[in-house]
Amino acid sequence: MPAQGSAFRDDVFEGRVALVTGGATGLGKEIARALGQHGARLCIASRKQENLEAACRELQSEDLDCMWVTCDIREPDQVERVVSEILDRHGRLDIVVNNAAGNFPAPISRISYNGFKAIVDIDLRGTYNVTKAAFEAYLKQHGGHIVNISAPFQNLGVSLQAHVTAAKAGVDALTRSCAVEFGPYGIRVNAVAPGGMEDTEGLARFSEATKETGGGGTNPLGYLGTKRDVANAVLFLVSDAASYVTGQVFAVDGGAGIDMMKMRLPRE
Ligand code: NAP
Repeated sequence: MPAQGSAFRDDVFEGRVALVTGGATGLGKEIARALGQHGARLCIASRKQENLEAACRELQSEDLDCMWVTCDIREPDQVERVVSEILDRHGRLDIVVNNAAGNFPAPISRISYNGFKAIVDIDLRGTYNVTKAAFEAYLKQHGGHIVNISAPFQNLGVSLQAHVTAAKAGVDALTRSCAVEFGPYGIRVNAVAPGGMEDTEGLARFSEATKETGGGGTNPLGYLGTKRDVANAVLFLVSDAASYVTGQVFAVDGGAGIDMMKMRLPRE
């Protein structure tokens, strides 16, 4: 069954403040919504002001407390400004979700030197920039949570994604190193690795053929995951239910990643 509703109390994150990068669209917006529906005050940050304004209006119309700040996560000074605007407004920052990323499916022969750099800059360096800025300005003194949105395929090989697999492998490594360094500060750091999630820009960018191997019927659960499935995993990881969990890359992919032979037996 696709995710319906939430297993958590509505006020479980009451009083907390959450930053979701790339929170104006796709998975990021749903992660922000889920955190807001459980009491967190939200900040969404990305480059396009019109998307941020529209998403913020949408979330506010659902009675959620949401602010936005424009920012290119490749630029440390812009990232530091996001954190300082959050602290000016709310005086705290408890949850950081590094969701923003770029992607364009292409074979290596068509990924330019600059295209490769851009993806590593956004996905990996951007994640580092936001993590470091939040750590230095607030988390180091107060503890908190970081969740990095990773991907499902970087431990295997996959066509059309050399730039993304390289960047996301770095994100997974960064997740573990941050978890080890930040554990003594009361900061848990984990990652969520979504499979192909329905109704997202990420999945839409792939061809029909890729879509077929990414979801519906080809994973053990037999259906494509939803944005809510990913958001629910984030809720779990930043909740006390996961209080002893850190440094993990948590796959939310219907079992696709561990399904070596893709053989389906008929149900008895
Ligand atoms: P999406 O809608 O394209 O979201 C990406 C977000 O990142 C956008 O809001 C974009 O906003 C922001 N962004 C991109 N470059 C940025 C930059 N330099 N600075 C700040 N923000 C930037 O994609 P999605 O499918 O929801 O993916 C969200 C996350 O899930 C990504 O980390 C992706 O790798 C991961 N993921 C998705 C899937 C899937 O099935 N969709 C599967 C595996 C992993 P602006 O353009 O306005 O900056």
